[in-house]
Amino acid sequence: MFGHVEPFAGDPILSLNDSFKADPRAEKVNLSIGVYTDEKGRIPVLGSVRSAYERIGFAERPYLPMEGHPGYREGVQKLVFGGGHPARAEKRIATIQTIGGTGAVGIAADFLAKHTPGRTVLVSDPTWENHHGLFQRAGFRTTTYPYWDRANRSVDFTGMVRALEAAEAGSIVILQPVCHNPTGVDLSEEQQTAVTDVLVAKGHIVVFDMAYQGFGTSIEADAAFVRRFAERASCLVANSFSKNFSLYGERCGGLSIVCRDADEAERVLGQLKLAVRRSYSSPPMTGGLLVATVLGDDTLRARWIAEVDGMRTRMDAMRRLLAERIRALSNEVDVDFLLSQRGMFSFTGLSEQQVRDMREKDGVYLVGSGRMCVAGLNADNVPKVAESFVAASQA
Ligand code: PMP
Repeated sequence: MFGHVEPFAGDPILSLNDSFKADPRAEKVNLSIGVYTDEKGRIPVLGSVRSAYERIGFAERPYLPMEGHPGYREGVQKLVFGGGHPARAEKRIATIQTIGGTGAVGIAADFLAKHTPGRTVLVSDPTWENHHGLFQRAGFRTTTYPYWDRANRSVDFTGMVRALEAAEAGSIVILQPVCHNPTGVDLSEEQQTAVTDVLVAKGHIVVFDMAYQGFGTSIEADAAFVRRFAERASCLVANSFSKNFSLYGERCGGLSIVCRDADEAERVLGQLKLAVRRSYSSPPMTGGLLVATVLGDDTLRARWIAEVDGMRTRMDAMRRLLAERIRALSNEVDVDFLLSQRGMFSFTGLSEQQVRDMREKDGVYLVGSGRMCVAGLNADNVPKVAESFVAASQA
């Protein structure tokens, strides 16, 4: 009956993680998977989250409503848009709790497929691969806009704007507002304003995918692009708590749709609930309670923000340390990109062959595209990574 079923090639990044686990070398370094680990290489349990666990205890676990926990949804809105955003005051944002950031993007795609079908979807080149996959699954054709300028290891802003201007009016455009995966390069504030002008003028439907809020500059600053955009036009915002709460397996995310008025937001929320009902019925409760508890309590929230600041500061310090070590070994290898890029990832510019060399010779695992997860660096492994990087760069 299922003889024709084709094997799944696997997700390249997750498969790489399996190869890493199977690698017997003691000195191996995993800089491939997008997970934040601390200086000891462990996924941290945040103190704020631990306190929330203690508070929620183990109690009854009824179904949550389709749209999720009310405190969670309120917390998402305040975090993404800020407490005083006009769209919030005017009650024109429809927000649901989702199954991670992936679930948020997936429901956004399903919602758009039903209510704005047939549009072209543009994603950055390169991007998180699932942007293509989730929108294609919903029935869309996806294409790309230029983003990565390989020669300068920065944003190809001219190419990006040109493509957004050339796209058919009313296209769907996915933007990562901060800590772009996989490149680590973001738009400057002026570029954000200029791109907003184009998006608004063309009537494009913008889907912001914010998976790393707090890992760029700060929780507040990282949301500035989204907040300013939402003052000018409707948009969709997917957010993930996987990284900034270190709650990968609990699957915590949110989807917010900024509407024209409160009446529209009410109807949009109804349709989001229907999309959830048809997909997985309602979101998970334990993760929902944890996030709602932290975001809903001033003390826990302040502690959480300090913990996010700590993760970001550590990653920035590791970027500087790696750059210093590389410079000490060679002044022919350019390391400025490490310092100008932000968040968990850096596009190194290394070729697939160079990445393979690092993996095979030194047990240093990067993604084939040359993406390095800087959150996997620590004081112990930086010297080895620097040596491997220099050797591969000069090969
Ligand atoms: N969007 C982007 C850009 C991501 O990098 C990721 C995760 N790595 C996600 C969405 C998905 O987030 P989650 O793991 O919460 O599903």
